[in-house]
Amino acid sequence: MISEIRKNLGRPLTLSEKILYSHLYQKFQIGASNRGVDYVDFAPDRVAMQDATAQMALLQFMMAGKEHTAVPSSVHCDHLIMAKSGAAEDMKSAVFTNKEVYDFLSSVCNKYDIGFWKPGAGIIHQIILENYAFPGGMMIGTDSHTPNAGGLGMIAIGVGGADAVDVMTGMAWELKLPRLIGIKLNGRLNGWASAKDIILKVAGLLTVSGGTGCIVEYFGEGAESLSCTGKATICNMGAEIGATSSIFGYDNAMAKYLIATGRSEVAEMAGKNREHLTADIEISAEPTKYYDQYIEINLSELEPYINGPFTPDLATPISKMKTVAEKNGWPVNVEVGLIGSCTNSSYEDMSRAASVVKNALSVKLTAKSEFKITPGSEQIRFIAERDGYFDLFKKIGGEVFANACGPCIGQWDRKGSDKNLVNTVIHSFNRNFAKRADGNPNTYAFVASPEIVTAIAISGKLTFNPITDTLLNSEGKDVKIAEPKGIELPPQGFGNIDNGYQQPEKSGNKSDIIIAADSDRLQSLTPFKEWDGVDFSDLPLLIKAKGKCTTDHISMAGFWLKYRGHLENISNNYMIGAINYFNDKTNLILNQLTCQYDTVPSVAKAYKTAGNGSVVVGEENFGEGSSREHAAMEPRYLNVKAVIVKSFARIHETNLKKQGVLTLTFSNNEDYSKILEDDKIDIVGLKEFTPGKQITIVLNHSDGKQENIIAKHSYNEPQIGWFKAGSALNIIKKSNQKYDT
Ligand code: SF4
Repeated sequence: MISEIRKNLGRPLTLSEKILYSHLYQKFQIGASNRGVDYVDFAPDRVAMQDATAQMALLQFMMAGKEHTAVPSSVHCDHLIMAKSGAAEDMKSAVFTNKEVYDFLSSVCNKYDIGFWKPGAGIIHQIILENYAFPGGMMIGTDSHTPNAGGLGMIAIGVGGADAVDVMTGMAWELKLPRLIGIKLNGRLNGWASAKDIILKVAGLLTVSGGTGCIVEYFGEGAESLSCTGKATICNMGAEIGATSSIFGYDNAMAKYLIATGRSEVAEMAGKNREHLTADIEISAEPTKYYDQYIEINLSELEPYINGPFTPDLATPISKMKTVAEKNGWPVNVEVGLIGSCTNSSYEDMSRAASVVKNALSVKLTAKSEFKITPGSEQIRFIAERDGYFDLFKKIGGEVFANACGPCIGQWDRKGSDKNLVNTVIHSFNRNFAKRADGNPNTYAFVASPEIVTAIAISGKLTFNPITDTLLNSEGKDVKIAEPKGIELPPQGFGNIDNGYQQPEKSGNKSDIIIAADSDRLQSLTPFKEWDGVDFSDLPLLIKAKGKCTTDHISMAGFWLKYRGHLENISNNYMIGAINYFNDKTNLILNQLTCQYDTVPSVAKAYKTAGNGSVVVGEENFGEGSSREHAAMEPRYLNVKAVIVKSFARIHETNLKKQGVLTLTFSNNEDYSKILEDDKIDIVGLKEFTPGKQITIVLNHSDGKQENIIAKHSYNEPQIGWFKAGSALNIIKKSNQKYDT
């Protein structure tokens, strides 16, 4: 197939192209696509979901009427575990607090043959790397750091729940064909520099948006010299430059990791197909000709970086930190150093951090800062404990948290953080935006490699450079910490342990899906009703949103995240962040039934209860931002019949279409101003709803006057089918029924 693709395109292929083009949903699209411009349908090999995002994705999947997912899928309970008092206590508390969510996820996984990784099993991306990722594969995951699997040569992309539903139900999955950034790594890391420092440097070069819409492909002798898990760290943090994905070509480090994690047969197969799992040789010979952007980094000269505060692309070489911190007035006393997470808790990471501790103890140093460890998986926890690393960490006061996200995603019940005091922490996680670690906006969080975090925790100072600086030991002597030595893979193997995986029961013995009747976190979905074949008439305007209206304005995050599995409850945040054009206020709109002002969700519910639909109006790029499906499900649930805007963000428009909400754009943007606060709106001619045909909207003003305006739409035939059926899932369900009978 690869040679056919090469022939079709008439040129050598990058690794990303080989994988992308061999995962097309329909073969005939080959050669017809422009990078960064065209949308292409793909058929990924697998789906991964973390527990927060899996809830709504699975509730939707359940409505598709399938017996099992179209591709292998897995769910990982990692995001809901609060780090507070150490692993054992925290696990007990999480299992109690989140019982209903875990029971639900476990029962759905069991019913639909989805792999279920219990709380405590580990963090989604580490588990994927240890168990499922494979060279040449393509996967999507409902989490931004899914690209971690690029460390094993897989194109892995973070998506929203709606995309997961597409792939699990066997529909095409659409993506704008990514542009390609080639990064050649020359030389070899040495001393204190690690794989983490490569991506910290790249983040500094490309900034948080420099990789947007791109796949970053790493190659060169330096790339081959990195461990598989080091490569995964780099791919993981590609999300910090906005990259769609990041990837390395298949090499011996990947083969060793596959064999060590019990997948010799995958290594053997990959070895036989090595030429298809790396870029063609012409690409590395003339990279500027084939990549949209090209960068070279010499690893032999790379020094460790510390990135932050408040953004992962503010990169400072460790040798410059004293000057930069002083210039910016950053607080340099470090209160806590944290290592681990999905980004940096490989055996190699743990061994290098432990080596720093061992070297420090040997010269009679101990830690000035607190030190916390978040293992990425039960496998890693087990071997790090077995091989004595945790004992070393404990000697400098280290505390091991549960195998979960914890402090990386604000799930850190840190003592005193509610006082919002200015303070500094340093961690080996990937993101360091304000409030992300402990909810305190005044916590200056810096990102560095585990070995640098450990050294800095020992010194207690952000400005400590272990390459050049000495510390005063317990005997009053100036001593240096020797540079760390790491071990790539555990010499005693990964061990045969209970890794926290729940195998779905074989068919015939499936238990029921568990949702408590009085749950406020979970609610079964009811299929949306089919269109009744009648034009929409007399729909009151719900809100005319002014200016920017992102998915955050449409469906806020924060407090509302706990209702991700409960459509009715989360619909109480619908459009509460949007600005009402008529009074410049958020969440205060006219209720045409009472002539009073009320919140957007209350008015929408009042219309729904009265048996009315309603219409939402907006401006440019409506629904930009994350691809969260709630922003499209909530209006449908609240009986919003149509959203009419100057332009849509493409993903949100598609999500609305999938849920059966009519998406229209003004033919003439000036018509936005014709819509009045107390208008009733007709949308006519829907019986002749066809691709390319414009639609007439009648504005019934309260003074009795009428105005007609024209709207465009971007529906194709199948999408018109979604509208008529009430949702895309209803169509899938119908086609199953046809197939079954
Ligand atoms: S550890 Fe952090 S980055 Fe990784 S999956 Fe969890 S929240 Fe996301």
